[in-house]
Amino acid sequence: MKKIAILGSTGSIGTQTLEVAAHNGDIEVTALAAGGNIALLEEQIRRFRPSLACVWDEKKAAELRANIRDLPVTVLSGMDGLIAAATEPQAEIVVTAVVGMIGIRPTIAAMEAGKDIALANKETLVTAGHLIMPLAKEKQVRILPVDSEHSAIFQCLNGERENRIHKILLTASGGPFRGYTREQLADVRLEDALKHPNWSMGRKITIDSSTMVNKGLEVMEAKWLFGVEMDQVQVVVQPQSVIHSMVEFEDGAVMAQLGTPDMKLPIQYALYYPKRRFLPGERLDFAKLGQITFQAPDLEVFRGLALAYQAGRRGGTLPTVFNAANEYAVGRFLDRKIPYLTIIDMIEAAMEAHKVVEHPSVEQILAAERETYELIESRW
Ligand code: NDP
Repeated sequence: MKKIAILGSTGSIGTQTLEVAAHNGDIEVTALAAGGNIALLEEQIRRFRPSLACVWDEKKAAELRANIRDLPVTVLSGMDGLIAAATEPQAEIVVTAVVGMIGIRPTIAAMEAGKDIALANKETLVTAGHLIMPLAKEKQVRILPVDSEHSAIFQCLNGERENRIHKILLTASGGPFRGYTREQLADVRLEDALKHPNWSMGRKITIDSSTMVNKGLEVMEAKWLFGVEMDQVQVVVQPQSVIHSMVEFEDGAVMAQLGTPDMKLPIQYALYYPKRRFLPGERLDFAKLGQITFQAPDLEVFRGLALAYQAGRRGGTLPTVFNAANEYAVGRFLDRKIPYLTIIDMIEAAMEAHKVVEHPSVEQILAAERETYELIESRW
């Protein structure tokens, strides 16, 4: 039996991880953590029987405790609970599927406890990659990418340890507003931004995909995971979402990983790496597909991607500011408090105002996050 803990079990990645566990039948779930969806968490606990569960909000944790008092499960809350779930002694792999920078501390705690990380929570690497990657080496734990693009790159690198990466070609669908002008983007409504053409994901990442900020976060994630410079990562728009990413080696050879847009593939690959297992579901039918097309991203229209390159090249606390401003702004947009393009204006203003701290500690990263929120609140 493979033993896993899932942080963010009620979300898009979390529920798909549990589907993978159920389908395979040889995965034991030892800990589950969620934000506030205790109805779904209770269902998951009854089905997968972890020994530990965590709900962020203590009031809801108390409610859950009462609802499942017939089961031998400890229910904790808050950051201590999240860290307890991340370090639950039996788990070998921790799936980090919470959304946002809340993932940093539990991920570090899990690594310190010697757990391998199946990493979906890209915000952790974007803001603290300079701490996470050396820690992984020190503790000899693996960071197994769950993001489909990074899983694709990871798969392309199989058997290539001796060979240097010349370039990473990170593919992007271009989102629902591919081909739009800035004027058209100004009129985008929440309902439009929540409709991704190919992937079904959580609300925040769906908005991030529409602004291409998600692609910017992924470029920074790739930089840390694969030890390359920002400018070695080239974003290529590939609207069919069939090629999940590519690696170009020094001799010009390009390796690609292709598949249908189904997150269960990278999740299962991370959990069983380096083994592949049968995965039910649709398969690629090239004859039906007909063509795969490519184009360059429009950095004038999708300024969030250009700002991400700027943040990643500068480093220090600037990627944290980029990410925190985006988290805050997307939250406001989801609450219908700001227009669509203000998301990018907020990121740009926060980055301009920030005085970069080099090699920040976790405390300095979290301080930069707070300062970013305060700055945006004072201006908008
Ligand atoms: P969702 O919004 O669907 O799910 C987020 C999960 O995090 C939920 O289980 C939520 O719980 C939980 N959560 C939120 N706040 C807290 C908290 N304070 N403490 C504990 N749990 C919390 O997000 P996704 O699954 O879409 O994304 C998760 C991460 O994976 C993100 O970093 C995203 O960028 C990344 N990712 C997602 C992909 C996808 O296809 N969805 C693809 C690649 C990467 P609750 O619902 O109970 O509040």
